[in-house]
Amino acid sequence: MTLPCGQWQEEHAGMGAIFSAARSRETEPVPAEVAWHTLAVEDAVRRLDADLDGLTDGEVQRRRADFGWNRLEVAKPQSAVWRLLRQFHNVLIYLMCAAAAVTAVLEHWIDTIVLLAAVVINVVIAYIQEGKAEAAMDAIRAMLSPHATVIRDGRVVDVDAAELVPGDLVKLAPGDRVPADLRLTGVDGLRVEEAMLTGESVPVDKACDPVGAESPIAERVGMAYSGTLVVHGQGTGVVVGTGAHTELGQIDRLLTGISSSATPLLRQISRFGRILAAVIVALSAATYAVGVLWRGQTVSEMFMMAVALAASAIPEGLPAIMTVTLAIGVQRMSRRNAIVRRLPAVEALGSVTVICSDKTGTLTSNEMTVQRIVCAGHTIDVGGVGYAPVGDLSIDGRTVDASRNPALLDALRVGVLCNDAALHEVDGAWTIAGDPTEAALLVVAAKADLLRDRLQAEFPRSATLPFASENRIMATLHIIRGGDALILVKGAPERVVDMCRWQRGNDGEHVIDREHWRQMAAETAAQGLRVLALAQRRGTPDETLEIGDLGDGFTMLALVGIIDPLRPEAVAAVQECHRAGIRVKMITGDHAATAAEIGAQLGIGRDGDAVTGAQIAAMDDAALRVVAHERNVFARTSPEHKLRLVRALQATGEVVAMTGDGVNDAPALKKADIGVAMGGKGTEAAKESSDIVLADDNFATIAAAVSEGRTVYDNIRKFILFMLPTNGGEALVVMAAIVFQITLPLTPAQVLWINLATSSTLGLALAFEPRENDVMSRRPRPPSESLLSRYFMWRVVMVSVLMAGGALTMFLWELRLGTSVETARTMAVNAIVVAEMFYLLNNRFLLEPVLNRIGLFGNKIALATVVACATLQLAFTYAPPMNAFFGSTPLGHVEWLKAAGVGALVFAVVETEKYMVRRLRRTPARQPEPAA
Ligand code: ATP
Repeated sequence: MTLPCGQWQEEHAGMGAIFSAARSRETEPVPAEVAWHTLAVEDAVRRLDADLDGLTDGEVQRRRADFGWNRLEVAKPQSAVWRLLRQFHNVLIYLMCAAAAVTAVLEHWIDTIVLLAAVVINVVIAYIQEGKAEAAMDAIRAMLSPHATVIRDGRVVDVDAAELVPGDLVKLAPGDRVPADLRLTGVDGLRVEEAMLTGESVPVDKACDPVGAESPIAERVGMAYSGTLVVHGQGTGVVVGTGAHTELGQIDRLLTGISSSATPLLRQISRFGRILAAVIVALSAATYAVGVLWRGQTVSEMFMMAVALAASAIPEGLPAIMTVTLAIGVQRMSRRNAIVRRLPAVEALGSVTVICSDKTGTLTSNEMTVQRIVCAGHTIDVGGVGYAPVGDLSIDGRTVDASRNPALLDALRVGVLCNDAALHEVDGAWTIAGDPTEAALLVVAAKADLLRDRLQAEFPRSATLPFASENRIMATLHIIRGGDALILVKGAPERVVDMCRWQRGNDGEHVIDREHWRQMAAETAAQGLRVLALAQRRGTPDETLEIGDLGDGFTMLALVGIIDPLRPEAVAAVQECHRAGIRVKMITGDHAATAAEIGAQLGIGRDGDAVTGAQIAAMDDAALRVVAHERNVFARTSPEHKLRLVRALQATGEVVAMTGDGVNDAPALKKADIGVAMGGKGTEAAKESSDIVLADDNFATIAAAVSEGRTVYDNIRKFILFMLPTNGGEALVVMAAIVFQITLPLTPAQVLWINLATSSTLGLALAFEPRENDVMSRRPRPPSESLLSRYFMWRVVMVSVLMAGGALTMFLWELRLGTSVETARTMAVNAIVVAEMFYLLNNRFLLEPVLNRIGLFGNKIALATVVACATLQLAFTYAPPMNAFFGSTPLGHVEWLKAAGVGALVFAVVETEKYMVRRLRRTPARQPEPAA
């Protein structure tokens, strides 16, 4: 099936040396305007001064100096001034500006200045914090940079796509984003989806032929353009354009990066802000009307009252701190190897009820070692672990000589030749490139002294049917002496056994005993081993390797059983998920018996056998809903089964996280509430469809991300629970003053001081709260749960009343003692601020007690903010300029003691209330708060 350019490649396999020798600095630089699609492959390669062994490192460096990095300039960041101005666009800021205007008209200059200062401070804080959040997201974006498989110095290596230079030889596989503009030098069933350049979503078949100069992009079959998506087959191509010199660079469209769309929570908060603003305006207007029309107050006094009320009720720090909390959560997750691509995922993680995970590489370590080889008459045990080719092949403890065992020899040969992986030794350490399953076959062959280079020279490959999860086999066509050809296949036993008519023993070929092989495959799989079958048949050199045309004339050679140990941390992570009320389901392409055994080892498959893809295919949606709900292990599944399973689970009300890595997993990843792609083995297509990418492909990372997601949500709620009662308390104080016609206990300037200088400082600490102990022993949060549950409302009202009561009492008490209004106001301010400090500690844990070492001292940042806040408050009380500005006065010890009393009262009441709620709930760990 290899197209003409493939032949060219074979014929010129030795040309590397010639090209290398010819390479010189006189070579003309690669002109950007060359019409590469019109050149024959050889011409293109010659013009690029490239060769089929790839460039050397030195040459890459030189070219990079000439051509730069293979990157597109990121969209021009918004100018700093514009970003600053944008922060003003907030309904609460508008309200403050309006209040400043009112005070200016009334010539209350101090209030005007404070209000304007509040606006400026708020805008600057929002600006700085947005900058920090953006920087965090940028750092994470960099972690997602795409990779490319490239041949350099004769070796296949994986590099960052930004490192490509013109002349590099790149390999393409399904799911890859083409990393640069390529002139294809070899294709094998290559199909590329070019919608992002041409708008045409039907994938295009690629070839290597040149086309006319006038051909539009969609017809340039010999080119693969940067940013387009490989959906099928394989190919190689030489880089002709990088960075801005690609078609993509020219149209200046960027690949999808991290989307930072507002999360549902942020939207909920901004809606809340708008409603709050409307309520504040209405209340202020009502206050004004009541005061002037009913109580006969002066217009200017009532204006000030209304302004004070507005200032007190606006939670100025809310939006900024929300963003910071989310950004901190994203950073914490990335530290634990979970890279968040879409911000809403952070919250959705807290509601996940089912995690559907792959097996290979996610729950298992993907470090494959062949442990046994089952031939027709005997079973061979293989010694050694890992990729070092050290270990014996033995039967019943006796070492076997492979060269005397023709069936074994043929089987090992298939394993080596029908294989795209590579094994390298560097300083005594053995590493692999490519698929670990295939690498394991190279290792076992090397243990029997069968070396790949020799075999490849003897049996050159002329076509490949690459492995695809849907087909579960790989086939290759090899030319043998005398003009004959050999087709080799390896793959899932059910598939391969059905393609065989014969079986090979040491005494020649016989008619196949399919039942025997199936039984052996099932027995091997039941031990948790991954099973591959190896077979071959004679063919003709011009045969096409199409999945439907391989026929059934193969000779079965052997089964190999490969061990893939569980990841040590996976068992604990599964248990942790179970404790957190999250069910774990394994959805694998592997054999049912292998899957069931691995499932049992993990504690998720105790419900008997695995459900197979074939069974899923036979079920209607209603039946699948029942099975998806009840069973936990699904084997021999294809990507479309994953999609059906996600749908079935969602239909029963589950919130589903689904892992995936292949190009065909994209629909299931998109459909899932949280799509989780593998950062290592995952294709670009899978990563782009996902919400989260696991840098280490590890299941335990998903569990870690869930716990971080729950923590972020907790912290946001803690912050809201902290912030609102302060505003509520202040608003109640002002309203009480209006209703009872007493002097305003808090001036607008003082109210703003409390909100901005103290509440925001203190509240920031809650963004850094570490996770609570019970975060992974609660049930998942219902996604529809509103941020302010009824219980939360109650808490806000209770603490608001306590704070208002404390402040009013202090104010009136001071007045009664005959002190000045200024002193009484200073007392009211200090009562609220001290109460806030205590209440901050209450809020470190939503329901758990904080009167212990961890509760009081566990968050160093909380303590630091309390100290900072106390310092500010001392300045407010004692610094003469502050006294002049805010109308505050110095206080004595007794006054401070009284303020501390208010704080202690709030603290004690909240702790008692938490205790009673815990008692009421009986199972506080499972249900952290009474239902909304
Ligand atoms: P998971 O979905 O858990 O990652 P998996 O990796 O085991 O599952 P697939 O990669 O789809 O699933 O493999 C399914 C089956 O295909 C395997 O059990 C094996 O028999 C066969 N197989 C796997 N890799 C290859 C390969 N490179 N060549 C031929 N056959 C393979």
